[in-house]
Amino acid sequence: SVPLAFFSGIGAGSKKGILFKGGVSLEAMNNIKTVVMDKTGTITKGNFILQQTVPEKGITSEELLTLCASAESTSTHPIAHSIVSAAKEKGLEITEPKSVEELAGHGVLAVLAQGKVICGNKKLMDQFHIKTPFNAPSYGTEVFVALDGIYIGRLMISDTIKDDARSAVSALQNLGIKTAMLTGDETDSANAVAGETGIEQVYARLLPQDKVTKLAQIRDENGAVMFIGDGINDAPVLAGADVGAAMGSGADAAIEAADVVFMTSSMEAIPESLHIARVSNRISK
Ligand code: ADP
Ligand code: MG
Repeated sequence: SVPLAFFSGIGAGSKKGILFKGGVSLEAMNNIKTVVMDKTGTITKGNFILQQTVPEKGITSEELLTLCASAESTSTHPIAHSIVSAAKEKGLEITEPKSVEELAGHGVLAVLAQGKVICGNKKLMDQFHIKTPFNAPSYGTEVFVALDGIYIGRLMISDTIKDDARSAVSALQNLGIKTAMLTGDETDSANAVAGETGIEQVYARLLPQDKVTKLAQIRDENGAVMFIGDGINDAPVLAGADVGAAMGSGADAAIEAADVVFMTSSMEAIPESLHIARVSNRISK
């Protein structure tokens, strides 16, 4: 049976926009040793905005953006959305690719009238042996673009860290809980976010399945883990955690797979949920 104190915890949670689902166990909530977070949409706002286009010689910014936006036009990734909206805002003509393949955690390969376009991160460029310039650390993402196997420029896309990320991380540390971040993004961008927020352990360039393995490894080393994510790709990681929590602003699949849902997108809800669990556990004893 569900202890009475747990109901008061559910009530306290709902006032703070925290939904404890039926299956979540207080026991599990109280044993958490590490809070593991996805970067994009959890620690950052996930509001991607195109900041700058850096074309190579012989191509204009407009041409670069048109090619990349066309290649990305069928993708549902937030980075793709930001590229397509920037192109539309500039009145550029986007054409649907003849064929397109999206590689999770990498980018897209598209066949356009102009040729074969590859848009994505450094890892994707490396895979196709396309030489790219050094990428500068930032909170956002750099999308590299190649046409018929030749690098033609890059797009710099910004994201911003949530306002309460730093205070939420220190609140977790005050509860004696370690913090870790998992991301498919580049090491530089991951380190920049960790430096700004105080997150202790950083694991970058992970594919969705790598996140599941990494989470299990953190659990093996340090005990029970709570994972917080928001994407479709995060569902298996949420399922693999002792407690899985989803941002209410996230994908339906993530919300479904979670034990706890944060209705606001604030990060304060993370330490708050653990605090509520501790208080109701104390009452129930
Ligand atoms: P996260 O782990 O931060 O949630 P994803 O796994 O969705 O991120 O993506 C990881 C990285 O892969 C992104 O930071 C980006 O560099 C690249 N990427 C993924 N999809 C696309 C896309 N459609 N266009 C360009 N780059 C992409
Ligand atoms: Mg994500």
